[in-house]
Amino acid sequence: MKSISKKEYVSLRKRGEEYMKLPIHNEILRKKLINKWEDLKGFPEKSQEEIKKWQLKRISYLVDYAFENIPLYRKKYSQVGYVKGSIKTWDDFYKLPYLRKEELIEGFPNDIAKNIDDFMLSTRSSGSSGKFVTLAVSQQAIYTDTLQTIRQFYMQSGKKYCEDDVILFIYTCPWWVDNIGNKYLQDFLPTTTKVDVAIEHIKKTRPRYISTYPTYLEKIASTGVKLSDYGVELVIVHSEQSDAKQRKMLKEALNVEVLDEYSSEELTRIALECPNHHYHLEEDACFIEIIDEDGNKLEDGNVGIVVGTNLLNTATPIIRYIQGDLTKIVKDEKCSCSNHGRIIEGVKGRSMDCIITDTGEKIPASCFMDLAYNWFLTYGIPVHGLKYQFVQPEIGVVDLYLIEGEYSVKLRSIKESLYTLLPKTTKINVHKVDKLPYDNGRKYRCVISLI
Ligand SMILES: [Zn+2]
Repeated sequence: MKSISKKEYVSLRKRGEEYMKLPIHNEILRKKLINKWEDLKGFPEKSQEEIKKWQLKRISYLVDYAFENIPLYRKKYSQVGYVKGSIKTWDDFYKLPYLRKEELIEGFPNDIAKNIDDFMLSTRSSGSSGKFVTLAVSQQAIYTDTLQTIRQFYMQSGKKYCEDDVILFIYTCPWWVDNIGNKYLQDFLPTTTKVDVAIEHIKKTRPRYISTYPTYLEKIASTGVKLSDYGVELVIVHSEQSDAKQRKMLKEALNVEVLDEYSSEELTRIALECPNHHYHLEEDACFIEIIDEDGNKLEDGNVGIVVGTNLLNTATPIIRYIQGDLTKIVKDEKCSCSNHGRIIEGVKGRSMDCIITDTGEKIPASCFMDLAYNWFLTYGIPVHGLKYQFVQPEIGVVDLYLIEGEYSVKLRSIKESLYTLLPKTTKINVHKVDKLPYDNGRKYRCVISLI
């Protein structure tokens, strides 16, 4: 089998982006939305028994597909004696081994996709371990994910979201497609946009909905604007941990509702906060289990580690993947909204440090995670398997530690990229290392402040 050269790896995303920009996809999505909207909208309202029945059927298909087509799963499941068609009950599924991120990193590219060309549509995550993994994404998964975005805003807006509304995403990179048949428009600004520029843009374009990081929203709030004055009705925050108190303060400051989304690159939407402030699992996007540190499955009501199975993607299937965050599935909780997805509580993800500049500005860890993501997207740096950690020993100094992955990287371009976030007066040292200075193998943090 072929492998992916450094040059091919760097051009992968571009080819995928160009392909997904073809207008045919917007037209296919328009038809899909017409055909599937009622089912999609109705799914979370099914009874929990019906939801579980659907999930088991889907999982049974996915496991067989992975076993037959993806070498990683072929090997992994053969070792436990799996044969095609064995998943008939949930207990059959629970016998399958968990999947670790390291396996995905080591399996790239040949063992984690059926064809190497599948990586044309791909995504990257550094997530909670700070180490990049590259996953192939199927076109169908991108389509369904796009349609589930429509449902997300419909649900979180209290069923107000409609086809003429615009959503502004202030995020790392734009989504694959930015409209469905010229309706449901998605606007985009990168998180590197200066806050006053973003506010001017919001004033001018008046999006009804905004999706961004809580720390970015805090910056908007600190200017004293009321987003309600510019037609905004709801802001959805994600990617960083925010608590209910912080969101309530933001809601009061900005005079718009602020709700949370819990998601990851590997699992897509995991849970969404409904207008009643319950986090419902997105039961047709991924299937979530909670386990203890020894890998035992926990009953509802216990806090443990999130394990998830992506129900959309077949290109690199993600089955019983250890996501690593902590949460609990609430026992027998009912919500008066129409969503019957199981409810989770108290998600604990990454703890975030800030870097403080010499002018006293605090730059949150997520900005550095974003920047790392853009090493590939903007700077064409091959990141697969690369691991990083930012350390601030004193004001005015930032040390970046890197463990190289599959490909060698130019430290100079990485260093240059840091100055898009940090003032030119900052002394930046980039070190290639074999081991990160602050990583005990358990609780990794991508940004460490020693101040
Ligand atoms: Zn609810």
